[in-house]
Amino acid sequence: MSGSDGIDVAVIGAGQAGLAAGYFLRRAALSFALLDDAAEPGGAWRHGWDGLTLFSPASASSLPGWPMPAPAGGYPPRDAVVAYLAAYEARYALPVRRPWRVAAVHREADALRLERVDGAMLHARHVISATGNWSNPFIPDIPGRASFRGRQLHSAHYREPRDFAGASVLIVGGGNSGAQILAEISRVAARTAWVTEQPPVFLPDDVDGATLFQRATERLLALQAGRAPPPQLGGLGNIVMVPPVREARARGALRALPPFARLDAEGAVWPDGSRIAADAIIWCTGFRPALRHLAPLGLTRQDGLIPVTPLGQALEEPRLWLLGYGEWTGFASATLAGITRPARAVVQAIAAGG
Ligand code: FAD
Repeated sequence: MSGSDGIDVAVIGAGQAGLAAGYFLRRAALSFALLDDAAEPGGAWRHGWDGLTLFSPASASSLPGWPMPAPAGGYPPRDAVVAYLAAYEARYALPVRRPWRVAAVHREADALRLERVDGAMLHARHVISATGNWSNPFIPDIPGRASFRGRQLHSAHYREPRDFAGASVLIVGGGNSGAQILAEISRVAARTAWVTEQPPVFLPDDVDGATLFQRATERLLALQAGRAPPPQLGGLGNIVMVPPVREARARGALRALPPFARLDAEGAVWPDGSRIAADAIIWCTGFRPALRHLAPLGLTRQDGLIPVTPLGQALEEPRLWLLGYGEWTGFASATLAGITRPARAVVQAIAAGG
């Protein structure tokens, strides 16, 4: 590894996961840099829609070392999360290089080589990939989708309900995004129809993201100790009854339909031939991990994931670590509450000789 551009650890991505890794790297005797392709701090939170709030209180949504300031009342809105992540980066003077888009990661004998889109390079003994999933939205391959003449967008690109005032809107997807976007749009649209693969699962009103995380942690610790775990409260995909969703329930706006069979120019058609005409479809159908930059390493499986150890170390390339992508890279690792534990474990493992 050439000394000039060689560091011990390169973290790709400076969202919540990358920042958490940076916090622990700063305390380890390792040279490191965070590389982020965005011009501004905040990770995917910068792209959330205007009405987006956390589904956990600030007290349960903090990165290591510095509690998230609690806003006056309710759950932190998108802008408060972005401000916290930006302040966090500055508070710990984390060495973030931006914009620095990693186009590809290649193997070399004594290092991994990171290439930027303009050809600039950086060598690192270890790479922590923390690129999240926002840049890889998933839309199912529905027959006739290309023939639909109305507007289509993924929830990743939805900003505000005003754009759909007076329209007939199909909202597809039964998770928190679907419920929260339906709650907003159903107040201004001429008509909304909510289509979910399975009947949506609503958590009890007094169960928010923090309660879910706490119970899931209790279950994990009980299982690790060989004890009978307390009953499950629900999964991270279940719908947290944040105030806008409760208000929509009170209006009777949360009725869901089973999946349609196909789309045509006007709208959706169900297996029994019934149909709903629509002006727009919003796909709240989730994401896949953003791993394209790792393609040259040839590690990605058919399902789009990379085989890793429980710590997130790539089985076939031990110098590569995956962080913050969800359960396959660590329990609740795709949440603010859950990222501290895997971030600490990855940095400790690298510092101990990886
Ligand atoms: P990101 O936040 O996506 O950050 C990744 C960073 O890497 C970005 O800055 C990106 O620009 C950069 N990047 C990507 N590719 C490259 C590349 N090739 N080179 C360089 N840089 C790159 N979590 C909670 O804890 N509580 C909640 O209430 C909550 N609500 C949510 C609501 C919605 C609608 C959604 C979609 C998610 C929600 N989440 C919540 C999950 C949370 O927002 C994400 O899991 C989180 O943003 C993931 O953080 P990250 O750092 O892993 O990825």
